[in-house]
Amino acid sequence: MTVPVFRFAPSPNGHLHLGHAYSALLNQKMARNMDARQLLRMEDNDRERCTPALERTMIEDLHWIGFTWEQPVRRQSEHFPVYRRALDKLIGMNLAYPAFLSRGGIKVEIERTTKGDDGWPRDPDGALLYPSVDRELSKRERAKRISEGQPFSWRLDMERALEYVGEPLSWCETVPDTHIVGARPQDWGDVIIARKDMPTSYHLSVVIDDALQGITHVVRGKDLFHATSVHRLLQRLLDIDPPTYHHHALVLDHDGEKLSKSRKDTSLRSLREQGASADDIRVMVGL
Ligand code: GLU
Repeated sequence: MTVPVFRFAPSPNGHLHLGHAYSALLNQKMARNMDARQLLRMEDNDRERCTPALERTMIEDLHWIGFTWEQPVRRQSEHFPVYRRALDKLIGMNLAYPAFLSRGGIKVEIERTTKGDDGWPRDPDGALLYPSVDRELSKRERAKRISEGQPFSWRLDMERALEYVGEPLSWCETVPDTHIVGARPQDWGDVIIARKDMPTSYHLSVVIDDALQGITHVVRGKDLFHATSVHRLLQRLLDIDPPTYHHHALVLDHDGEKLSKSRKDTSLRSLREQGASADDIRVMVGL
């Protein structure tokens, strides 16, 4: 019988807060119930915002709340060649293209094509979908811009990717109970699969790492529910079997807002400094 594998996968770009404590401890509880393995992954692709000092603090905080994991910790920053190979595969399949527009450039381009009409579609996170200009560039123009040193990211050609797959995708979700969810990657438009100066993005790395680490159960916040549609598409394109997904409710602040790493008052650090014990944290998150 294969042993189930869970993972907690924070990004060390700030301090852990009560929401992370809930996610980590829920992973642990579910893993223990299934006699599963529990892994820890640092999603530290963003070398500007993620630092070794923040990672050390996270690890300390995780020990403090009683979260335990198998060694070694996987750091995404140590595996760029692996992501590069997957990116090259998607480029080779003609499903990715270099995208040159900056965030401001996207707005200008949309303004130009819609003449101020503000009905441009947005992705499930609220960002404007990427316009088609760069998808339509000739090979020669792309090569010219790249040789001139114009910065670019790699985007997935969503239409082509969906055509390539040719059938609807879905995943097994266990919240509120086990059921199948139909994936809607098309809602995201041409997503970024490799950021500027990086051979990867969150979406690309997460599906590769979940596969390489043999993850069978992904337990994460429901803020990532819609992103799973993109993950299912990338898994299919890269021949990866999907894990089961459990998108748990988020811990909210007094105003009903999602907690953020930039808010100090709900960080595990500051709660500890104010005298909270690890048991208090478990009670606060209801586990
Ligand atoms: N690294 C992501 C975050 O900290 C979580 C990714 C995941 O669990 O899939 O929000």
